[in-house]
Amino acid sequence: MEIKQDVIPTTNTNRPGDQLNATHITIHETANTNTGADAEMHARYVKGEEAQNRQVSWHYTVDDKQIIQHLPTNEIGWHAGSEGNAASIGIELCVNEDGSFSKTKQKAMELIQSLKASLSIPYANVVTHHRWTGKNCPARLLNDWEAFKKELRTEEDEGSIAGQRIVIEAQTLWVYDRPDWDARYTTVTAGEVFTLKDELLVDSHQMYQLKSGLYITANDQYVTMLP
Ligand SMILES: [Zn+2]
Repeated sequence: MEIKQDVIPTTNTNRPGDQLNATHITIHETANTNTGADAEMHARYVKGEEAQNRQVSWHYTVDDKQIIQHLPTNEIGWHAGSEGNAASIGIELCVNEDGSFSKTKQKAMELIQSLKASLSIPYANVVTHHRWTGKNCPARLLNDWEAFKKELRTEEDEGSIAGQRIVIEAQTLWVYDRPDWDARYTTVTAGEVFTLKDELLVDSHQMYQLKSGLYITANDQYVTMLP
């Protein structure tokens, strides 16, 4: 996998230079469907005046042809709110109408796999911009997020989930006694912590199997993986 380096100058105000110990990868879309709004264009944009005025920066842009890196992975970018910025590497996927979004997705997956491996970022911590701030981003992928995650999942990820812990974020949340969304068993409440055994896809929605043998949603709006 080739990554073109086109790094934001250290003198730019949208490159704060703060240390990042990334535990997450945040996926975005550029939301610019114009012809020519590809990775090259965004590489120019993120180095330019407007990105500095708007105080935005991120680590990689992916289109259907290439991957461009704008920030080192150990430096904070401004792309996902303060919590997301402090925890994650930001990847923008281009949605330009003259590009192939399915190719862009494939390239992004390669990049994500490589970053997961080199920075020991767990599968569960590949998240959407929406997860941090509620923004409708990555707009296209949000409809398709579980399928994207499923495709991203490797055999190693299957073992890696066991023993990890989640905390409940929702006020109350259903727990199921078998892998079936109709098999409501009891509820749990915000702040409770559970240990995981496995993750599975049920009717195209991600579910965790808990160590207790019960099941719960893996939707990261409702549950969060503990570091
Ligand atoms: Zn975003």
